[in-house]
Amino acid sequence: MAGRISRRDFIRYGAAAAVAVPFTAAVPYAAAGGKEEPSFSEEYDIIVVGTGVAGTTAGIRAAELGNRVLMLDKMSIFGGTSLVSGLNFSCVNSPFQEKLGIKDKPEYYAEDMAKVAGNYGSPAHAIIIGRTTRRLYDFWTERGVIFKDIKGLAGHSVKRALWADGGGRGIILPLHSYIKEKLPNCVMRKETKVDDIVFDKNGKAAGVKVREGYRFDYDAENDDRENKTGVTKFYRAKKGVIFASGGFCRDREFMGAESPLFASAQTIANPGALGGTLKMLMEHDAHPVNMALTRFAYPVPTEDLRWGMMIDCATGKRFINELNVRNVIGPAILRLKSQNGGKAPIIVWDAKGIENFHDKQRLKLSLEAKNGLNGTIYKFDTLEALAGYFRINPSTLKKAADSYNKALESGKDEFGKDAAEMKGAAIKKAPFYGMIVNPRITYTPGGVRISTKAEVLSIKDGQPIKGLFACGEITGGIHGESRLTAGSCPDCGTFGLIAAENLHKINA
Ligand SMILES: Cc1cc2nc3c(=O)[nH]c(=O)nc-3n(C[C@H](O)[C@H](O)[C@H](O)COP(=O)(O)OP(=O)(O)OC[C@H]3O[C@@H](n4cnc5c(N)ncnc54)[C@H](O)[C@@H]3O)c2cc1C
Repeated sequence: MAGRISRRDFIRYGAAAAVAVPFTAAVPYAAAGGKEEPSFSEEYDIIVVGTGVAGTTAGIRAAELGNRVLMLDKMSIFGGTSLVSGLNFSCVNSPFQEKLGIKDKPEYYAEDMAKVAGNYGSPAHAIIIGRTTRRLYDFWTERGVIFKDIKGLAGHSVKRALWADGGGRGIILPLHSYIKEKLPNCVMRKETKVDDIVFDKNGKAAGVKVREGYRFDYDAENDDRENKTGVTKFYRAKKGVIFASGGFCRDREFMGAESPLFASAQTIANPGALGGTLKMLMEHDAHPVNMALTRFAYPVPTEDLRWGMMIDCATGKRFINELNVRNVIGPAILRLKSQNGGKAPIIVWDAKGIENFHDKQRLKLSLEAKNGLNGTIYKFDTLEALAGYFRINPSTLKKAADSYNKALESGKDEFGKDAAEMKGAAIKKAPFYGMIVNPRITYTPGGVRISTKAEVLSIKDGQPIKGLFACGEITGGIHGESRLTAGSCPDCGTFGLIAAENLHKINA
């Protein structure tokens, strides 16, 4: 494989010489392209970039295989998006399923993934996720994670989603405590940004270039580009590097290049969820896939929006069939907002609609949310009170509700909503519930392409880039057009384990 030199280092160490002296196994590192071996300040077996669920799983596994591991995070808080996520975990054959006598199979899981993947996604990765989730369950619970209960979620053919108390915190915090208490050979370091990869004379990832003492700038338009804080150091990774650096939901410029609509969606992902690391991997020939796909999400599951009536607050009128899928509703709302001065719509449910919610755990979270952030579901005795709260003319709302109810009764809805799907929900039975609906992008399906062994694949020849592994949301092409709910967590954990094991095995 050809040796690699980043564009920045190429410039820094002398472009002419880099062209004149090709990398070969026989050329000493220091001579390669006139590039001098950086002076490494520290040495580890494996370096993991990212401390979310993917990086944490990879770090623990690598350390328990006997490696000296360094886990890095650029932020001042460990855990990334995983920490703020609900992190529901789809698990095939969990003890919860066994207790309920639910028959599940990895094949069912892979089929469920394929059903929503469109013509995208990777069946080869899907079946591996299905086969690994039980091992992952044991791995996490044996190291302190406690899953509370099981629930059935839309898109899954059986009940299989587990959650820990506190969502992502309930998974991440026990695992980080486990590292601190039990794994002296696994060092976690925050405020250390990985800027680049160091490749050796054979083109193998041999370390990282970092900035220690990095202070993320929450006010910067693009922290990746603008932030110059920290002191540059080089760390050697004798075996290789695992990128578990997450998605790029916060990178409006990067997402906006795919579609201006994406840039206008809200997100509550980690503020550090930017595209810098992915762009750097691309500079080193990593193959980016599915970059134009996205995944809209809502404060409640998309499949529970259907029980309600969605209203444009500017006009007090409906504008969409609420039975639509996530990636139709999101763009429709964003287009609406771009035309009505930025007003987000509201959704109204009646008592029956709320009763129909399939995800009662998330319903409870939204009903109990007291912070007034959008995502809170408010309860009212009358439609008039609801209209007053959301500043809609009460008679306009009443009119919209009447015509919605009539449409459901007659089976002739102007937006094609099928009353047969509604299980009796309409806008009739008090109390009534209202919530602002702002579409969020909380997950980016695009990322670097990996093999089923979690090796990063080169765009040049489809072959693994030596010593370079990736897992979690930094990877792309696994889920396709629409990722299953509770589907990232098992993917992150599965390929976290696999990345650590394969990197260890290759070097054993
Ligand atoms: C509100 C919300 C709810 C969600 N709910 C679910 C759910 O119920 N189930 C589910 O499966 N998924 C859910 N998701 C998606 C899921 O949480 C994420 O896909 C997953 O947590 C990503 O994990 P990760 O380890 O890949 O990345 P992260 O957890 O984001 O970790 C990546 C880490 O890498 C660090 N990093 C990035 N670049 C660098 C660099 N250059 N140098 C050093 N460090 C760097 C970041 O700071 C970050 O800490 C949800 C997401 C959100 C936002």
